[in-house]
Amino acid sequence: MSGAFLPALGNNHTSRNHSLSTRNSICYRHPEYNCCFNRNHFKHSYRRRHSRENEVAELLFYRHIAKRRTPQKRTTTTILVFCCVESKSYHIVVIGGGVAAGYAAFSYVRMGGEPKQFAILSEESVPPYERPSLSKGFMDPDIRMEPNELYTCAAIAQLPQDESWYEEHGVDLYLNTRAQQVDISAKKIVCSNGCTFQYENLIIATGSRARKYSPLQVPFSNLDGILYLRNMEDAKIVRSWMDELKGYGKAVVIGGGFLAMEMTSALVMNNIQVTMAHPGDHLLNKLFPEKVAKQYEQVFRDKGVEILNNCFVENFYERNDGFASAVRFQDGRKVSGDVFIVCIGAIPNTELFQGQLQLQNGGIQVNHRLQCVGHSDVYAVGDVASFPLKAYSNRPMRIEHVDHSRKSAASAVLDILHGNPFGNTKHRDDPRLSIFRAAIDTTYDYIPFYYSRVFNLCWNFYGDNSGTPYVWGNVPDKMVTLWIELSNKVFGILLEGCSPFEHRVAHQVAVHRPKVDFIELQKIADVSQVFEYLWNLLPEKVEKICTTKQEES
Ligand SMILES: Cc1cc2nc3c(=O)[nH]c(=O)nc-3n(C[C@H](O)[C@H](O)[C@H](O)COP(=O)(O)OP(=O)(O)OC[C@H]3O[C@@H](n4cnc5c(N)ncnc54)[C@H](O)[C@@H]3O)c2cc1C
Repeated sequence: MSGAFLPALGNNHTSRNHSLSTRNSICYRHPEYNCCFNRNHFKHSYRRRHSRENEVAELLFYRHIAKRRTPQKRTTTTILVFCCVESKSYHIVVIGGGVAAGYAAFSYVRMGGEPKQFAILSEESVPPYERPSLSKGFMDPDIRMEPNELYTCAAIAQLPQDESWYEEHGVDLYLNTRAQQVDISAKKIVCSNGCTFQYENLIIATGSRARKYSPLQVPFSNLDGILYLRNMEDAKIVRSWMDELKGYGKAVVIGGGFLAMEMTSALVMNNIQVTMAHPGDHLLNKLFPEKVAKQYEQVFRDKGVEILNNCFVENFYERNDGFASAVRFQDGRKVSGDVFIVCIGAIPNTELFQGQLQLQNGGIQVNHRLQCVGHSDVYAVGDVASFPLKAYSNRPMRIEHVDHSRKSAASAVLDILHGNPFGNTKHRDDPRLSIFRAAIDTTYDYIPFYYSRVFNLCWNFYGDNSGTPYVWGNVPDKMVTLWIELSNKVFGILLEGCSPFEHRVAHQVAVHRPKVDFIELQKIADVSQVFEYLWNLLPEKVEKICTTKQEES
């Protein structure tokens, strides 16, 4: 086990039962074991020890020093981690403590799972949270959400699941607990703090990590002031830089995807001058057609952002205080800044399973029930899963977007608890689970849905961007793009500034992929009329939309 075992903590800690609160966790000193550990683990282990006399739980702990870098100074935060060498056994263990884990726990509780039979192992120090908010409400100077407001399932208006929620609902949440080794055939997990777990069913929800430059390939890319954004700790660091630079600083955002666009927007809202440098010909070139991207680019330019296309980073430059001062691109262009925020994509966390599970698309290959190939008791969900997209000829797909992570998590839990392949009416009729429709009706029949927000805009995409894109309207007012295949079927639809009714039509269009009369469609100039036209093509069973539309008008 890594880290030092300490029989007692240093001078800072008293010997009272609930004595110590650090910035990251509340810790307790155990009277019998003379050691400190996390509040939740204390309660669980203590109770069990006293109810089952023969069971001896050996409790150890170690101290992990996390160095947090801020623009001005480096501070050291001590995180206390509970550790036990006893092996614990659960019906379901989730590895990963992100969005999918939080929604899996929520679904487990809602679907009537037995208490104390579900555990989450998370390397993070906070309960699962809505990761998309890190680049939105958390950075927005007018909103400035705090970490505890982000906990899942805030997005579906459930009370945020803080540590007490997990405790009350009998879900064992192991924070600061990184799965280090997984033996799929033995159904055993060993964690970096020495804990071991046995499971009947495993849900892999390890998500992705930020893709980073290696200093070997990009010299000086490990300097202070070169930041990435993937988790809460990263977000706190980025936010402290924003606070520091507010009003006079200069930031360089590297990347042209949705995260780069969101970070640029957040920096501008914090009154920081930004250059956005990206490798493509236009922003979000994997999704947006050029015409739409140029409209968004204009929105950024109108806010004073400098946008540089076709930029491939060659190296960074160091200031005499060890911070980065500039970035140089392969074509010789050089841009200086106070801080550099790198958003160049993500890498799925599959390493633990290499050689044990089948990989595909950079992720873990699963079937329609999200079960790993050859292992019906091992599921992969969220960013890390490569699953067959049923609605699109079972094309294997890996999706790094939050809607899929929520729904796939619910689907896996439903499958384990009730068997999913033929649907489950009990849960289908539960309105609080309606967001999990894809999970509940059948096997995992997912219609891709992505969204992002910049400034006061919010784009939404449904379906698949195959075929030729046709654009109506303009950003920032109102825009719709349809991707139409050779068969004249609409495969994908992108919206900005549209009404809730139009969103529902868009979703149904992605589900049913209606065939359009191209000549008729081209006569339409107005965005709202495009939706009227599409709505008329939808099959009868979407009558509910009609009712809602009438209500809205
Ligand atoms: C800043 C940001 C903004 C985003 N905005 C949007 C958006 O606007 N719209 C959208 O659709 N999507 C957005 N996304 C993507 C979305 O957040 C992800 O698709 C989603 O979080 C994936 O959920 P997940 O549970 O699969 O993985 P994650 O949420 O990444 O969770 C994985 C968890 O597993 C933990 N972990 C990994 N390995 C181990 C291990 N060995 N042991 C224990 N724990 C481990 C990680 O620390 C992490 O807590 C955004 C992502 C980021 C980073």
